[in-house]
Amino acid sequence: MSAIEVLERWEERGYLDDRISRREFLKFCGRMAVLLGLSNSMIPQIAEAVEQTVQQRRPSVIWLEFQDCAGNTESFTRANSPSVSQAVLESISLDYHETLMAAAGHQAEEARQRALEENSGKLIVVVEGSIPTKDDGVYCTVGGKTALQILQEVEPHALAFVAVGTCAAFGGIPMARPNPTGAVGLESVIRTKPIINAPGCPANPDVMMGILVHYLVFGRLPELDAKKRPLFAFGKRIHDTCERRPHFDAGQFALSFDDFGARNGFCLYKLGCKGPETYNICASWRWNMGASWPVKAGHPCIGCSEPAFWDRFTPFYERIPLAAGFGVEARADDIGKVAVGVTAAGIAAHAIYTAAVRKAEQKAVELDKKGKEESNES
Ligand code: SF4
Repeated sequence: MSAIEVLERWEERGYLDDRISRREFLKFCGRMAVLLGLSNSMIPQIAEAVEQTVQQRRPSVIWLEFQDCAGNTESFTRANSPSVSQAVLESISLDYHETLMAAAGHQAEEARQRALEENSGKLIVVVEGSIPTKDDGVYCTVGGKTALQILQEVEPHALAFVAVGTCAAFGGIPMARPNPTGAVGLESVIRTKPIINAPGCPANPDVMMGILVHYLVFGRLPELDAKKRPLFAFGKRIHDTCERRPHFDAGQFALSFDDFGARNGFCLYKLGCKGPETYNICASWRWNMGASWPVKAGHPCIGCSEPAFWDRFTPFYERIPLAAGFGVEARADDIGKVAVGVTAAGIAAHAIYTAAVRKAEQKAVELDKKGKEESNES
């Protein structure tokens, strides 16, 4: 089935008119192709997979929240294409989510139980928040059961687990010293099923959507790194795609938050930036439709998506030791001259992504136009 036929079906069902514009859906498919590193020729398959999910497959998903702030839920519901994301979220069978579901109390717990029984072996389990293990896990209970008990109950029924956010992936803030609840990440508890980690505080909503779309298109999880993170989003350090990197290489650093360097977009390494040790998509993909991210806004990266965040990266405003690649200090006289060049170079990483996204979106719209013309001719 082509992307056009998918759109026509959605239109017939009133889905596009009421909830999502045709253009928005096409752009979503184009963006997902770029995010997942797929060629534009895959756009129709993405459209088809999303449509099939809406139509028939409806993989059952339960979303468990333990020691968390619900920040990842907040992030996901504010994805770059909120209406498309919401449609995908609704089109999967989200059978249990404490924050989003209307049911409460016994009714909610029954819904979880039903999902386990009806979808045993096919269930995708999203976990948000760390799991307390001290004193038999008594520090986090839901419906009278500890997080540990709930996970033990769910594990035999799961196809795979997605740990969303740093707390679920690596223990996060609850695991910081002195870790009074014995908090751990999902990997320390789940032993028999595949886990995919989508860390971040919160996780980028497009990364979460990318994992889901990859699963819908290919029927399997994306390729992972040694820390079980999807390579499409965590394959590079923030430092490698940061727009301030040319300043780092030129030895131009902001030394305080209101100095000449800070005002001119210089590197934040000396203000404690943890970008050289942090793997994530923030610098290239950014947040809020690619509008910005912390380093662009003038704040150093705090390494929130890495294992052992928070302890490993505090104090946040002290520089981390760098073994190699340290920039050569520029002479004060040269800074102004160099700055013009580095600013131009500095936008390159995000610009490459932006150009790819635009191209994919354009391709998707062209496919749609061509399909319409063909159907008019016939
Ligand atoms: S601001 Fe941070 S991530 Fe960006 S170049 Fe400097 S040290 Fe690297």
